[in-house]
Amino acid sequence: MKNYIAGQWKESENGKYSGKLEPSTGKLMGQFPSSTINDAAEAIDAADDSFKKWSETTSHDRAIILRKAGEIIESKRKELEDLLVREAGKVRAQAVEETSGVLDQIYYYSGFERKITGDVVEGQKNRQKIFQYKVPYGVVLALTPWNFPAAMVARKLAPALATGNTVVMKPSSDTPFTAEWLVRRFVEAGIPDGVLNLITGKGSEIGDFLVSHRKVSLVTMTGSTETGQRIISKTSANMAKTILELGGKAPFMVWKDANLENAAKALMWGKFWNAGQSCIAAERLYVHRDVREKFMKIFMGMVSKMRVGDPEISQMGPLINSSAVSTMNGFVSKATEQGFSILHGGTTPHLEDRFSEGFFFEPTIIGGATQDSDIFQEEIFGPMLGVMEVQEKDELIHMANDSRFGLASYLFTSDMDFALDAADRIRFGELYINMTGPEASQGYHTGFRMTGQAGEGSNHGIGEYLKLKNIYVDYSGDRITVNGMPGI
Ligand code: NAP
Repeated sequence: MKNYIAGQWKESENGKYSGKLEPSTGKLMGQFPSSTINDAAEAIDAADDSFKKWSETTSHDRAIILRKAGEIIESKRKELEDLLVREAGKVRAQAVEETSGVLDQIYYYSGFERKITGDVVEGQKNRQKIFQYKVPYGVVLALTPWNFPAAMVARKLAPALATGNTVVMKPSSDTPFTAEWLVRRFVEAGIPDGVLNLITGKGSEIGDFLVSHRKVSLVTMTGSTETGQRIISKTSANMAKTILELGGKAPFMVWKDANLENAAKALMWGKFWNAGQSCIAAERLYVHRDVREKFMKIFMGMVSKMRVGDPEISQMGPLINSSAVSTMNGFVSKATEQGFSILHGGTTPHLEDRFSEGFFFEPTIIGGATQDSDIFQEEIFGPMLGVMEVQEKDELIHMANDSRFGLASYLFTSDMDFALDAADRIRFGELYINMTGPEASQGYHTGFRMTGQAGEGSNHGIGEYLKLKNIYVDYSGDRITVNGMPGI
């Protein structure tokens, strides 16, 4: 693959490439440019040069291009689905679902054309007004993760471009090809040269340069909390606005009056969707003592039947790379050392030859872990779940809130008074009551605490890409009076 800068597909200036392995087989899938800071500077210059024209293009004309990109993606969607299976190790049904999500994002954001409004505020005196306009920031740097490599790209490109910003996108080094595929569709749809630029390369090598560049006005990043913290420290150089969608550690709460069958199914989704590699993944189960045994029987029955392996026919596929498998092994070793019990899984599965070098891990359930353990406090980001019994409502809400992350949370109960009381008291950006996720385009995806800053989706999310500018006007025709300077 190649970078895309100022309307040209090109190699990095040093001609070097990095390899990308296919998660389900461990085999080399292809190579992508190891871009340098000179490539990064060229991409930022291209985005900056094209900003004036793009921001002055009407929102209607911009939306036409977005919708055209959506139509092209739709007409070739099987290619994207295949790529998601190969590059990210998605199981087929989830690759299809993510592709639909990409289209939903693009069509949703293109629908904001001619709907962005500002305010007119009265001035300090009669016949004075303050016009508050919403204007694009300028050059947006979009840094995307590998876990939803298409949906996260769409969720950043669509609102940034719809609002008249220009973009430099640097995708995860684990999923560069999906990003390239999507950029090619925007190019086919007629996105003008320089408005959308793609560069690949390691965040650890070019990230600091990109985020702190003086021509970058907004950095939107979905990824780990550690990367988010580094970005905040580096954007002190250019004061770029940051939209940071970071880690999660969702509590999954099952109260004694819950529909247990529904709750167990939802937990299967919450925990094993995308092999647990999701920021909204259920990572800690709190179940009421009165129903613990019954609930676990239903849930474990489902876990033991889950098919893991070949992404084409399984319910759960591989993790993204070998280091993710090592992380899972690390959690299991520590849990064992601490005397917690491995109720299911805990190791890599034995699969047929074709997948024997893939990065698979068994669905793993850990009992006996304490609230202060890594299992209950660190983001696992894989198919592993800690189980804990609770008895009191206050205790449940307290335990759920006791996390440095604050993105998604789940509650199953048939007591609506309790559900709404929990909604008041839960300190998370999202609470799903008696339902699964994922978040909707028209919802505002955001988190408390170390989950980040700002958010994506809805009119609030599109507002993150617009800056408020104030125009003061006096149309009274009165003589200017200068306060505090007698005689002038
Ligand atoms: P990551 O390692 O933090 O990487 C995210 C992106 O940032 C990648 O493009 C990465 O490039 C880049 N990057 C790395 N170091 C950088 C630096 N110093 N400066 C600028 N950019 C840099 O995260 P990930 O492993 O891809 O994604 C998993 C994480 O994302 C999890 O913590 C998950 O919870 C979170 N996530 C959050 C949400 C949400 O909506 N809150 C959604 C999905 C995922 P390289 O790949 O080249 O390093």
